[in-house]
Amino acid sequence: SRTYVVTGAASGIGKTNTQILRAAGNTVIGVDLAGVEVSGDLSHREGRLTAAAEATRLANGTVDAVIACAGLSIPKPVTAAVNYFGMTEFLEAMQPALTTSPAPRVALISSMASLQPVAPPLVEALLQDDEQAALAIAEELAGDPQTGNLIYSSSKQAVSRWVRREAPKALWAGAGIPLNAVGPGTVITPMTQELLASEDGRKLVDSVVPMPLNSHQAPESIANLLIWLTSVENTHCCGQTIYCDGGADVVLRGDDI
Ligand code: NAD
Repeated sequence: SRTYVVTGAASGIGKTNTQILRAAGNTVIGVDLAGVEVSGDLSHREGRLTAAAEATRLANGTVDAVIACAGLSIPKPVTAAVNYFGMTEFLEAMQPALTTSPAPRVALISSMASLQPVAPPLVEALLQDDEQAALAIAEELAGDPQTGNLIYSSSKQAVSRWVRREAPKALWAGAGIPLNAVGPGTVITPMTQELLASEDGRKLVDSVVPMPLNSHQAPESIANLLIWLTSVENTHCCGQTIYCDGGADVVLRGDDI
């Protein structure tokens, strides 16, 4: 039995993750805005640090794995704050608690949207860990309906690049901690409920996220992969974003690797 910290545990993929892990006898400390063990707001630095400290305290100082699921898809600056810093800064704050585990692991949720058009200045500001600059750029993108959706894709491309950049460093690989991401296609959760409810909405998502293998996916398809990436068995996956998206990545990128 292992002790997991799961962000976004109140809904969707994070909730499914929590249920599967608990059914297998593990301890899960959930982090979300409300309704789970740790109530915290990952959209700002203080909220991230307070939530990480509280999760560490509830785990008595030792955490075996952290799975970061909390995210937003609305075309607003807060999406950049939660999807990037709500993962990177929270994970860094959890790192000391992982070092006392015999098999520490970390995984987060990116998206196949990381492969879609982005706003390069926003991606760069995020990767420079300049939250103020990133929020200012996102504010401008949010003001135009043509560019608002670039906030989501940019946040996901940045977090996948952060995983590649940071995974081999002393904090993660050097401390024996595999750090990886999963890139889902269209998952049936409260986040996509409204979009998938209408024929027009389904046509729209399917045109940007083609899923020839089994179409829209259940949250279990992602949760089980996150659970493997954070299991004792994962000894050598490092810095990857594993696309589990019904084929969207291969349709869009072909045989380019
Ligand atoms: P969801 O909306 O069901 O769950 C997201 C959770 O994140 C919610 O419980 C929400 O309260 C929490 N959250 C949002 N803002 C927060 C904040 N400031 N502080 C703390 N918690 C906060 O959505 P989901 O579909 O389960 O999404 C989980 C992850 O998967 C997200 O990162 C999302 O971007 C990603 N993803 C989802 C899909 C999809 O099709 N549903 C596709 C690709 C990637």
